[in-house]
Amino acid sequence: MTARLRIAIQKSGRLSTESQQLLKSCGVKFSVNEQRLIAHADNMPVDILRVRDDDIPGLVMDGVVDLGIVGENVLEEEQLERDCLGNASDVVKLRQLDFGACRLSLAVPTEFVYGDASSLEGLRIATSYPNLLRRFMQNKGISYQDCQLKGSVEVAPRAGLADGICDLVSTGATLEANGLYETEVIFRSMACIIQSTTPQSDTKQALINKILSRVNGVIRARE
Ligand code: ATP
Ligand code: ZN
Repeated sequence: MTARLRIAIQKSGRLSTESQQLLKSCGVKFSVNEQRLIAHADNMPVDILRVRDDDIPGLVMDGVVDLGIVGENVLEEEQLERDCLGNASDVVKLRQLDFGACRLSLAVPTEFVYGDASSLEGLRIATSYPNLLRRFMQNKGISYQDCQLKGSVEVAPRAGLADGICDLVSTGATLEANGLYETEVIFRSMACIIQSTTPQSDTKQALINKILSRVNGVIRARE
């Protein structure tokens, strides 16, 4: 294993800029080359891995990288997926961060008359978060049919693929643009920093502690 600390962040998307900014504010000096997976910090033994956000929890759980910055929604979904398969999910959330706010919500077409979640009994729900949706519906004792999509979830009802959706929302503008309205929040999320539970060398753990205490300082200063 490399002596350098590996931190996975989202390559391009809603968390990329703020993840990079946070690390830079913590004194990690690096510059990203769009073509490259890895950026080496030049003032400390840290490598930044730029990947799809969905891959981050697994990379940390498998000990491929030491730290990751990812949405709690993606982390929770991956943990439920691994629990469900009987695989260990060796990860600890070090702390919640101050960006990436969103919620995973149920939404239905404007003309749908919604009372509570039982209005969805037996109906088909499109989502990229099948495990979070299943947990919510099981807790309520409601059965439904799956429609798993990695993208374009919000167009599924209009396309006749599903009766409702369970998708991420921040402002609600996307839902509205697709003739949907939000009926129920099933999970609230922020970005978070996670660590693998694989034991670290003392020097690596000392570096993790240093970065974490700087993260705390940066976030406190922004409050
Ligand atoms: P990737 O190519 O890395 O898989 P993606 O399309 O899955 O990207 P993004 O849309 O960039 O992901 O969202 C990344 C994370 O940003 C989400 O998992 C969530 O934690 C957070 N987020 C904040 N607001 C929103 C929003 N309105 N819609 C979706 N995600 C949001
Ligand atoms: Zn993704």
